[in-house]
Amino acid sequence: MSDNLPTTSTSRRDDDGGAPSPATHDGTITESTSEDAPKKPKPWFKRLSLTTWIFIALILGVLAGLALQGAPDIADTYIKPFGTIFLNLIKMIVVPLVLFSIIAGVVSLDDVKKVGAIGGKTILFYLVTTGFAVTLGLIFANVMNVGAGYVMDTQNLSYEATDPPSFIDTIVNIFPSNFFQPMADATMLQVIVIAVVFGFGMIAAGKKAKPVIEICNAMSDVCIAIMRGIILVAPFGVFGLICPVIANNGIDVLRPLLWLIVVAYLAMICQIVLVYSGIIKVFARMSPLKFLKGEMPVMGFAFASASSVGTLPINMECTEKMGVSKEVTSFVLPLGATINMDGTAIYQGVCAIFIAQVFGIDLTVGQQLTIVMTAVLASIGTAGVPGSGMIMLAMVLQSVGLPVEGVALVAGVDRILDMMRTTVNVTGDAAVATCVDAMQKRAAARKARKAEKVAA
Ligand code: ASP
Repeated sequence: MSDNLPTTSTSRRDDDGGAPSPATHDGTITESTSEDAPKKPKPWFKRLSLTTWIFIALILGVLAGLALQGAPDIADTYIKPFGTIFLNLIKMIVVPLVLFSIIAGVVSLDDVKKVGAIGGKTILFYLVTTGFAVTLGLIFANVMNVGAGYVMDTQNLSYEATDPPSFIDTIVNIFPSNFFQPMADATMLQVIVIAVVFGFGMIAAGKKAKPVIEICNAMSDVCIAIMRGIILVAPFGVFGLICPVIANNGIDVLRPLLWLIVVAYLAMICQIVLVYSGIIKVFARMSPLKFLKGEMPVMGFAFASASSVGTLPINMECTEKMGVSKEVTSFVLPLGATINMDGTAIYQGVCAIFIAQVFGIDLTVGQQLTIVMTAVLASIGTAGVPGSGMIMLAMVLQSVGLPVEGVALVAGVDRILDMMRTTVNVTGDAAVATCVDAMQKRAAARKARKAEKVAA
């Protein structure tokens, strides 16, 4: 399986001074084999790619979950721990991985303007794609009449909305007052700020910072190596994550909300097929099929784990394998895993309309525009962990005066919705990273051509 793993930029580099490994156009390393070396047949489990293994695990997990629907305890006691261990390992590596790879990325850019250009484009792409996402959610929910046929059981309907932080507090909270706390709590936005600040600090300190820069570069490589090891066992993790979810979500739980699930899934698939394929074609000038194929393991893992932050390491690997530079992935993807949640925005739009229809409340166009604005902000504030989008849904409902108790209506199927919205969230991050990288490369090529002309 290992030879089918995405390669990292580290493995492409020729650290020992020898000739670089030949890389194919898609970044895959091909081993140089001597002509007469006898070719050993690969063992059967190595002949399938990681993507295939992840999908086999996903299907087996769903089947095992269906088989265990009568006894979900067995799935929770004996199978869930494998998923939890796997997710714990990923969570353990994600903070140092993001910290060191962003520091290494900022230091390697060595140019504040370039960081600004990447940052500016990234944020613009993130905002626009999220705006599209929530609009798509609203259109699907209205056109397909998402609340139709749902008979509300008002008994036992209660939901305590936790007060969402105000906009100003959200901005203030991005800046940490302590170096260690954000690492311990895995508050990714704060970790990103620390990494960027220290990266610039190292550039500013000049020669004196050389030893610490070398340590950060080496630590970034160490984290990538550990992460590749963890990814090798991803199929076991996927199986352990999906099986208990299916075992605990019987068809009885899903049936009353099946239409909501269908509408939300369709809108989310549309976001991938129309919006991401569109920007990949236009801005990255790449085949959307190639992009989606490269993202398959990422999507499979996001679907099973329902965590953008948990999927981040795999996303970095796969996006780099598609040829996106490490300086872009190491900055754009961690930021995306924290602030770019298009699937969550779609979910919030669809659920807001669903709740309005079920409670018999007509929303004006103005109110729906307010939903677009608040859903974009709410998705930015959503943490990349399972279930957090549902907490932020309360904020969207409150913004147009819809009853927050409505959250309780959709809570029963939250995990099922979360799996798909996380898949969209991470695919959106990768699509933007691919576009920003292609634009940066074209800008660099234009600059080089101009410089050549001037020199000539
Ligand atoms: N679970 C989602 C994610 O990690 C966030 C959400 O709950 O919407 O991207």
